[in-house]
Amino acid sequence: MKSLPLSRREFLQSTAAASSAVAFAHIAPGLFAQASPAGPEPIPAWASKPMRWMQLTLVEDDPAHFDLGFWLDYFKRTKSDAVCLSGGGCVAYYPTQIPFHHRSAWLGNLDVLGELITGCRKQGMTVIVRTDPHATYDDAQAAHPDWITVDADGKPRRHWASPEMWVTCAYGPYNFEFMTAVHKEIMTLYRPDGLFHNRWEGNGLCYCRHCTEDFKTATGIDLPRTNSNADPAHRAWFLWRQQRLMAVLDLWNKTIRAVNPEAACIPNNGSGANNTLDSVDTSRRAPMLAADRQARHGLAAPWLIGKTAKEYRATMGAKPIIGLVGIGLEEPYRWKDSVTSSAEIRIWTLDAMANGMRPWCSKFSATLHDERWLKGIEDLWLWAAKNEHYLTHEKPLARVALVYSQQTAWYYGDEHAEAKVENYALGWCQALIESRIPFEMFHDRLLDDEHLAPFKTLILPNIAALSDAQCEQLRKFVASGGSIIATYETSLYDEQGKRRSNFALADLFGVDWTGKQQGPMLNSYIRLEHEALPHHPLFAGLEDAPRIINGVSRLEVTPRAPFAETPFTLIPSYPDLPMEKVYPRTQKTDVSCLYLRQPAGRVAYFPFDIDRTFWEVLNGDHLAVLRNTVLWANHEEPVVEVEGPGLLDVTAWRNPGSITVHMVNLTNPMAMKGPYRDFFPIGAQTVKLRLPEGAKAKQARLLAADKAIEFEHAGSAITLTVPSILDHEVVAVDI
Ligand SMILES: [Zn+2]
Repeated sequence: MKSLPLSRREFLQSTAAASSAVAFAHIAPGLFAQASPAGPEPIPAWASKPMRWMQLTLVEDDPAHFDLGFWLDYFKRTKSDAVCLSGGGCVAYYPTQIPFHHRSAWLGNLDVLGELITGCRKQGMTVIVRTDPHATYDDAQAAHPDWITVDADGKPRRHWASPEMWVTCAYGPYNFEFMTAVHKEIMTLYRPDGLFHNRWEGNGLCYCRHCTEDFKTATGIDLPRTNSNADPAHRAWFLWRQQRLMAVLDLWNKTIRAVNPEAACIPNNGSGANNTLDSVDTSRRAPMLAADRQARHGLAAPWLIGKTAKEYRATMGAKPIIGLVGIGLEEPYRWKDSVTSSAEIRIWTLDAMANGMRPWCSKFSATLHDERWLKGIEDLWLWAAKNEHYLTHEKPLARVALVYSQQTAWYYGDEHAEAKVENYALGWCQALIESRIPFEMFHDRLLDDEHLAPFKTLILPNIAALSDAQCEQLRKFVASGGSIIATYETSLYDEQGKRRSNFALADLFGVDWTGKQQGPMLNSYIRLEHEALPHHPLFAGLEDAPRIINGVSRLEVTPRAPFAETPFTLIPSYPDLPMEKVYPRTQKTDVSCLYLRQPAGRVAYFPFDIDRTFWEVLNGDHLAVLRNTVLWANHEEPVVEVEGPGLLDVTAWRNPGSITVHMVNLTNPMAMKGPYRDFFPIGAQTVKLRLPEGAKAKQARLLAADKAIEFEHAGSAITLTVPSILDHEVVAVDI
């Protein structure tokens, strides 16, 4: 084995400054990014050009009955221009010379990886090689016991699904030395364009010799015995783990670039607020990323893949974002060889593409246990190839952005981040999609002028943990005409999750927190002040509603000065049993449920969990309030308006030479659970699209119906009518 470019001792020295900060657990997320020498990576052509990906994840017995011709033909038939092929780590599919790098027991004298790469290259495809370092075998464990993860009881950990294997430690020499050698060998033998790392980020806490010693050296404390960031030791480990993983990624990149300077490591990565790796840090290290959200499961909306795309774009900017689409059912029971319905694969892929992802089809095993997926993927890929010119997604035209905050999930949400953080965002996503308002996701670490420039309105769904500096950026945004909508505990905690005595944004909200919180509230309502504010824009769609349901948790706040308009007031909880006692004790209060201000841009603050409650109960009155608040805050002509029946995910894009409006028809009895069986066409949709300044519409096409469509000019906008939509439609306007 070759010696490492960076020894463990050198690594520790290079990060000594960061480490001493870790010891006191007072470091901000992003510290490691600042400490890293790696700047933003340029995008090589192999990463920027491919529009349609295929992945063949080989299983160990594939070499025995592998049909190379079939797969090369399928790649060609689908016009796939890039491929991810299994190389090594857990199983090597080539004649590796590295000790303990386990060759497939069926490999013999074959070089399956080499044959696949040669075949794909002949077809002009980008080729990246997948490695998976998360498990190894008895011989490796016997020779290198320190490569194996150790549990809290001090026992080396067997693999949970393949008990003949061992779970490796991601933070020590297995990744830093053994996998580095594997990556170097693959790069040297085949010179692929890049490497894709699956399950490279470890399996939680590890108490091996290296983790114990290295963590102590870095932080001065012992490894945590809890899984909560409320424990300072766990918080320090949580950040130390990220530091180790970014260091191994930097090492792998350096190693493979010594062979192929254009190559890059593509780490498989989580997404959104709950990602345990800082998305800004991983994004800046990769020229493209593939979002591994293969399918929905449980209770999940089909727009979830679109939300993931927006989250990746928030930190990747204009770099390519790939949507890793599975063909099977994605449930806890892991039927990895299953094939789900064609309609489900189709709606998931269409929503991914509508939200700016390039599709990547992931197939486990080269054996076809079930061929029903082949035709559906081929149809989608051929449609995408035919319309490639309109799917480059240069720039989203959305003017509304939904902020997400990893520090809020890590330190405020902690072990309850789904309930305390994510459900607020999901409520807004559902409301915006039902309202057909195009939106982007926005990472709270990027609140600078450049990232904020495209947006008029920022929504802060219970973004509790914000630093003083972030709040200052938000103040500046509003001062320069931007609008914000915030809910519940937004800015009530600092970036470390420590509660403040008052909102850091109290001046912007115009209210102070009294220190009191109420909830869960049962049988509480909101009164609409129609008499005081007739025809107020917040009442659109609620003209005949005297009152609507309240949320569940609220903060008691006091206004700093009288508010000009108070459209919603509190009707406090009253008994919900016995039925004889169910009558309001107070008909009317002057307690506001929504604080509206217009200091420069507009500010709307809900002191309660309207967004989370909406996600829980999906009440249409809450939908109206959320939608009306966005329209009030945004107060400009919308980029695109689509009117007609049905549940549509609407996105709008600028491409070279065109504007596109994607409309994905989610209307379906399976919209929130279970695989789509079929599609149900919805009726006519009127589209009004405002063109960018100076742009002139030359012609318009419907890309799904595959025909030209007439349009009319209305000032700087064009209007047209799409007669019907089955699964999706794309209006493409050449400018
Ligand atoms: Zn370890």
